[in-house]
Amino acid sequence: MLCDVFDYPLINNLPKLNVNRLVLWLRAKFGTYFYPAVCYLVWTVVGWYRKYRYLGFRYFVRDWGQSFYRIMSPLPWIQYQIHKECLALRKSLKQSFQLKDSSTAIQLPEEGACSEEIINTASKAVTLEQNTWKSGYCSGCVYHGEPAHLQLLDKVSNMYSISNPLHPDVWPSLRRMESDIVSMTSQLLGGDVCPDVCGSTTSGGTESIILAVKAHREWALENKVVDDSMQVIIPTTAHAAFFKACDLLQLEARLVEVDPITQQVNPNDVEAMIEPNTILLVASAPNFHSGVIDPIEDLGAIANKYHIGLHVDCCLGGFFLPFMRELGHFVPPFDFRVTGVTSMSVDTHKYGYAPKGSSVVLFGSQKLRQDMYFCYPDWSGGLYCTPTLAGSRPGSLIAGCWASLVYLGKSGYLKITGEIIATREYLVQQITQRVPEISILFGAPTMIITLGSTDYNIYSIGDGMSQRGWHLNQLQHPNAIHLCLTRLHAQTGVAEKFITDLVEVVGEVKLKDNSKTGKASVYGMTQSLPDAPVSELLKYYMDIVLDE
Ligand SMILES: *Cc1c(COP(=O)(O)O)cnc(C)c1O
Repeated sequence: MLCDVFDYPLINNLPKLNVNRLVLWLRAKFGTYFYPAVCYLVWTVVGWYRKYRYLGFRYFVRDWGQSFYRIMSPLPWIQYQIHKECLALRKSLKQSFQLKDSSTAIQLPEEGACSEEIINTASKAVTLEQNTWKSGYCSGCVYHGEPAHLQLLDKVSNMYSISNPLHPDVWPSLRRMESDIVSMTSQLLGGDVCPDVCGSTTSGGTESIILAVKAHREWALENKVVDDSMQVIIPTTAHAAFFKACDLLQLEARLVEVDPITQQVNPNDVEAMIEPNTILLVASAPNFHSGVIDPIEDLGAIANKYHIGLHVDCCLGGFFLPFMRELGHFVPPFDFRVTGVTSMSVDTHKYGYAPKGSSVVLFGSQKLRQDMYFCYPDWSGGLYCTPTLAGSRPGSLIAGCWASLVYLGKSGYLKITGEIIATREYLVQQITQRVPEISILFGAPTMIITLGSTDYNIYSIGDGMSQRGWHLNQLQHPNAIHLCLTRLHAQTGVAEKFITDLVEVVGEVKLKDNSKTGKASVYGMTQSLPDAPVSELLKYYMDIVLDE
């Protein structure tokens, strides 16, 4: 009987658990399964402890909330709530996306349209859309956008619009351009002192990251004793692409929480998480969230000590930090010069000012780069081997990227980087002086300004800025908005306009007393929900973007 495992003292009537008797009772009950079950239980609890020790309570609630939601989600009431949220989302998106009316082409037209008509339609739309980004109202998004630069990229890409680097024999010039891009990039990031650095162009930061993770997985399968439960240790500030990579490659993504003040990952926390099956550490230089650079040197030493990889995500910083350093600003070591760094991702389509769809993935050795390739020599279509995820690739983007790098040159990059840093310093100074209600978070000295507020709903302030035409990024954990500065923000008058708008908006929000409309409410709601229903909402959002 279960009650036998309790003692019932005569005076104190609260029963007391007698552990010895509990063990005897369990053993009698579960027989031979007892010890294995205890081991399993202890193992599970120790695992939880190790996991949440470096993540905190919020992640515990998130994970368990997800399991709970999975059990409860068939309930009609929950389904109804989700449905209601989806409808509200659709209504609010209808305006901003100008969802299709019946006149758009749903089927292939019976007869083709004439080229003037097509050019007219496209040109009208594009001219209208240019107004949004040209004036510098977007965070990130378009990074250069000056007409002469744009025209050159268009012209050169045009010449290669049907080219495909899958056939280097047909377009040998394209092969040359790709190796030039990789070489110019690596020379900026330690390739000058580490001659083994090599890489490939890809379609964007996400692909670069997926490929770097894949290469490390293949490397680990060949060189380390690992079973198929390999882990990657990822700071919470790292880009979502790392989770996509782990999802696709079936690796376990082990999150580490960052320091709430500095937003840097703590190397000791990372080291404590390493297990025999850990294959890769991740760091950002800088991260998208706050523009902060992780302590790459310390992480490199750890990666070296445990003989595992370290990927430095330099998607934002690759064509920014080297020039920032050359301009005399302090930039801590972050590239292949740091021992232990095995791969890097660098977005040429961000501060490399190339056309969209262009990035570079770099490796510390050719052997590791080979682990990125996919080979299938048995294919009926012939011997098959590709470096990246795609088969056929757009040569036009390689040509456009090459044109951007060669056209701007070092002096061009130095000039723009200097302008962006000056704009940032101006904004920081003005906000500190004129908008004391807003705090600049994390003090990262790169290209991102993160704004928070302890007194007001920062998303309401973001909404107010949206109404004035600004497209800022909404962040969470902690709640903040940010502006990722580009060349367009360095144009005359843009930073001044940002400040006057911000002053106005804060004044309004003060009066309205934390109104909760628009994006503010969407974020407010999603923050209070576990991840699973939010994912459903996001999927619904994606359906609308793709279909309507
Ligand atoms: C933009 C970015 C990425 C991913 O880039 P995509 O080109 O959008 O795939 C990865 N990491 C950081 C830090 C970024 O800013």
